[in-house]
Amino acid sequence: MNLVVMKFGGTSVEDPAAIARTAAIVAGRVSAGKKPIVVVSAMARVTDQLLRCASAASLGDRTGALAISSRLRCRHPDTAAALVKDAKESAALANWIDKKFDQLDEVLRGLAAILELTPRISDLIVSFGERISSRMIAAAFCQHGICAEHVDSRDVIVTDSSYQKAIPIDAIIEKRAAEKLLPHITAGRVPVMGGFIASNEAGITTTLGRGGSDFTGALIGGAMHAESIEIWTDVDGIMTADPRVCPDALRVKTISFEEAAELAYFGAKVLHPATILPAVKKNIPVQVLNSRNPSNDGTRIISLAPHCQSPFKSIAVKKKLSIIDLVASRMLMTHGYLKEIFTIFDKHQTPVDMVSTSEVSVSLTVDSNDKLPQIAADLSQLADVKYEGKKALVCMVGEDIRGQNGMAAQVFAAIRHINVRMISQGASEINMSFMIEEDDADEAVRSLHAAFFQNPDPTVFDVEARKQLVTPGP
Ligand code: ASP
Ligand code: MG
Repeated sequence: MNLVVMKFGGTSVEDPAAIARTAAIVAGRVSAGKKPIVVVSAMARVTDQLLRCASAASLGDRTGALAISSRLRCRHPDTAAALVKDAKESAALANWIDKKFDQLDEVLRGLAAILELTPRISDLIVSFGERISSRMIAAAFCQHGICAEHVDSRDVIVTDSSYQKAIPIDAIIEKRAAEKLLPHITAGRVPVMGGFIASNEAGITTTLGRGGSDFTGALIGGAMHAESIEIWTDVDGIMTADPRVCPDALRVKTISFEEAAELAYFGAKVLHPATILPAVKKNIPVQVLNSRNPSNDGTRIISLAPHCQSPFKSIAVKKKLSIIDLVASRMLMTHGYLKEIFTIFDKHQTPVDMVSTSEVSVSLTVDSNDKLPQIAADLSQLADVKYEGKKALVCMVGEDIRGQNGMAAQVFAAIRHINVRMISQGASEINMSFMIEEDDADEAVRSLHAAFFQNPDPTVFDVEARKQLVTPGP
C-alpha cells in the first residue's frame, strides 16, 4: 500500500532549517501518494552530550552534569519555537519539553548520589534525545501541513533486556506495529517515531546500540512490509571512492547488501549494514539519500547484486592500522599455535583485521592502539615480534570479481609503483584487500580508480553527475 519508512539521522534534524527541509521531503512523498512512517534520530550531537551528562553525574560531578542538561534544555525549545508558530501549540510543546528535562535532571541528581551508572540507567538517560526530538518534529510537521502523529517507539519496538544493545523481538514488534501504526496510516496520518529507543516486555526503556536509528527504520519497514526504506543522511550515498581523495569518484546507484557490508567494515560510514538486515531478509530495498540534496537518487541497497560490467563497485580505505609480524621456527609442523596467538588478542580485546601465515611466520593487522606494546610483550613469549604503525588497508569490493581470471594481476599492475605489505582475498570472494603504508594510501586509491572506473557502467554508476559531486561529511 505504498508504505515507505523514512529515517532521518541527527544531521537531518539538527536545527530548525534542517527540520524544515526534512518536513518538505516528507510532504513531497505524501503528495506523491506515498504513505510514510517517519523515524528520527536525536538532534545531532545530543546522544553524545547525554552520555557525557550521565558519565559526569556518575563521577559525582552533579553541577557539570546539570550544566550540560541545561544547555540541551535551551536548544530544544529554541528549535521548537522556531518551527511551531502557533502560540498555543508552541507553549504546550515548550511545557512538555521542560517536563522531560525535569525528569532527566531528577535522574542525574539520583545518579550523582548513588555514583553508579548501570547500562539500564544509561539507556534511560540517552533515550531522552529521541523521545524529545520525535515529539518536537511531529509538531513541526503538523505546522508544515503534514498530518503527523507522534508515536512513542517504546510502545512498538520491544526487545530483550540487554541494555545498550538490546535484541528486538520480531513477533511482538509485528503485532505492536499493526496495533499502534496501522490505524494512523489507514486514517491518512504520518506516524513520527524516535529511532534507537525501545523497551523490554516489562516496559523498561532499552536502546538498540549507537547508530541504532537505522535499525529501528529497518525493523519498522520489515514489520509493516514497507515497499522501501529510505535512510536520509548527509551524503549522496555510497561512492566509488572518497571524493575528497579522488575528485572524479562516482555515486554507486545500486549495490548489493553484501557489498555494502564489506564497505562498511572497511570504514565507509554511510550506514552499518547489520542494521538493515531485517529489511534485506524481507527483500525490502533500502535507499540511502541526502537530505541536503533530495533530488539526488542516492544509493539503492538490494539483496541481489545488479550485474555490472566493472569488476568493482567501490574502493574503501581503513587507515591507522598496525602490522604485527611474528616469526617462530617452533610453529613448523605444530598445531594449536594460531590459537595461542589469538588467545592473546582475545585477552586484550583487540580485533584482528587481516591475517597471513606461512610455515614459520604470521602477520596480522590491528587498529593502532595503546595496547600494542603489551600485546607485543605477551606475543614475544611465543615468537620474535615486530610491529609497525601507520599502515592502511585498501579494500576493493565487487561481486563481479567472482570467478574472473587475472583480477589480482590487474589490481597490482595499477599500483606497481607502491610497496604492498600484505594481501588477502577473502572467502567471500567479493573483496580484494591489501596493506600498504598510510602515506601511499591516497595515491593508491587514485591509481586504482583511474584503472577500474575509466569507463563506468552507466546502469550502476551515476556517470552524468561526475562533475557535481557532494563531499561527504566527517
Ligand atoms: N542517536 C543515536 C546515536 O547517536 C542513534 C542514531 O542516531 O542512530 O547513536
Ligand atoms: Mg547514523
